[in-house]
Amino acid sequence: MNKFPTKLLLNGKWLEGSGASRLVVTNPATEETFAEVSSATVGEIGSAAEAGQVAFESSWRDMPPGQRAELLRGIAKLIRENTESIAQLETRNVGKPIGDARWEIDAGAKVFEYYAGAIGHLCGQTIPVARGGLDFTLRQPMGVIAAITPWNFPFLIACWKVAPALAAGNSVVLKPASLTPLTALCLGQLAQEAGLPDGVLQVLPGSGHEAGNALATHPLIRKIGFTGSTEVGAKIMKLAADDIKRVSLELGGKSPNIVFADADWHRAALESPMSVFANTGQDCCARSRMFIEQSIFDDFVSQFVSATEELNIGDPLLDDTQIGPMVSSDQRELSESFIAEAKGDGRNVLTGGERLSGSGFYLKPAVVTGTEINDRVWREEIFGPVVCLRPFSDEAAMISEVNDTSFGLSGSVWSKDLNRALRVANRVESGVISINSHSSVHTEAPFGGFKSSGLGRDLGMSAMEACTEIKNIYVGE
Ligand code: NAP
Ligand code: MG
Repeated sequence: MNKFPTKLLLNGKWLEGSGASRLVVTNPATEETFAEVSSATVGEIGSAAEAGQVAFESSWRDMPPGQRAELLRGIAKLIRENTESIAQLETRNVGKPIGDARWEIDAGAKVFEYYAGAIGHLCGQTIPVARGGLDFTLRQPMGVIAAITPWNFPFLIACWKVAPALAAGNSVVLKPASLTPLTALCLGQLAQEAGLPDGVLQVLPGSGHEAGNALATHPLIRKIGFTGSTEVGAKIMKLAADDIKRVSLELGGKSPNIVFADADWHRAALESPMSVFANTGQDCCARSRMFIEQSIFDDFVSQFVSATEELNIGDPLLDDTQIGPMVSSDQRELSESFIAEAKGDGRNVLTGGERLSGSGFYLKPAVVTGTEINDRVWREEIFGPVVCLRPFSDEAAMISEVNDTSFGLSGSVWSKDLNRALRVANRVESGVISINSHSSVHTEAPFGGFKSSGLGRDLGMSAMEACTEIKNIYVGE
């Protein structure tokens, strides 16, 4: 996309925005600024909430479900037709490899297709109540839902939030992350082109402190769908408490990758680097704590390090790049501070942790062993290309260590003994876990966290149901 939107999409119109400051968009591979985007004020968020309410009442809530589904399919079709240009834009803005970006834009189209189909399956129940008569439930839309999204998967996570909310009959105000507002604006543009009525999907970039805060406190916003840090998620939950707004929160993680000696561990060693270093480690599902059975630990580590050193790190616009730069200088410095602390504590940084020469926020994937369980590098979410490996010998003690964290998002277990794998998967406190695989996110299945990793679920029917209220109706005899 050589030309892409940079204004606010408010009630079907592209507006400059009255905020004095503009969002500066940088290419992390070159460190060059290539766009400036309008930033919404509290007043503009208020106007969007009001326009969203009008659109909800006048056009969207009562539209026949089949017609709504057609419009969502139309958005999916336009996403597919524009995959390459949106992917190029995402790569320039986030620094993610172009192959990953293409996959993500295509996955966004699938999300719209899935929820278009799901509209026909959003059912209530008939309930045989004790006193006779007819009792049944309806699933009704809530009104205006706000989506607040992060910078690591800007387009795809926007689709995760927007599609189920629209499918259920709500209007949506989307506020993308300030670092990466462009592809969310593209989504707004495509939705307009597909014929979505004005005000049904509005996209307002703006700072979290101003625009995000205004969404979380506006009385017309009935629900906040948020993905981001645990810290901001907790803030939003507090703000939402004042008028009992619904919240769904997808937050941080420090996910385990558990490898037993009876697994196909050569395969696990080969595949595991990308389970943590994909998207340069800026992934809430990153398997950043590895638990390796003692008897294979040394051999596993050596194969894991070799596989890590083979990863192709460089220009994200090249087709064979696997690891691009980090999104910003700040994020890179944050990862570097963890690596420096680990080194200072005498831990072994076996490979990586250095910058590439030249421009771009590159950081070579770092592999750390010898950590103690109270080290920050082992306990805290880094959100960068850093992994720690520790050996274990006793299954029960290992599971306690796995669960000794406030997070509980994702993880993997590798073993050919399916009983053991299921036993462990059952005990790990996380919302999502994979056996002999690192694939844990599926459009059709619920995705989200236990404990401080979140509240509620994205994807699957759960996400759509969570964008509705249940109404019970009783008809007397
Ligand atoms: P973040 O700082 O929490 O920001 C997320 C979104 O919230 C951004 O749009 C941000 O706007 C906005 N925001 C910031 N402060 C706000 C406030 N006071 N009120 C309302 N909104 C506010 O997270 P991030 O830096 O974008 O992303 C990194 C974090 O997200 C990591 O910790 C990661 O684990 C988590 N994450 C979780 C998942 C998941 O599915 N569980 C997925 C991706 C990322 P600004 O951009 O203007 O600050
Ligand atoms: Mg942030």
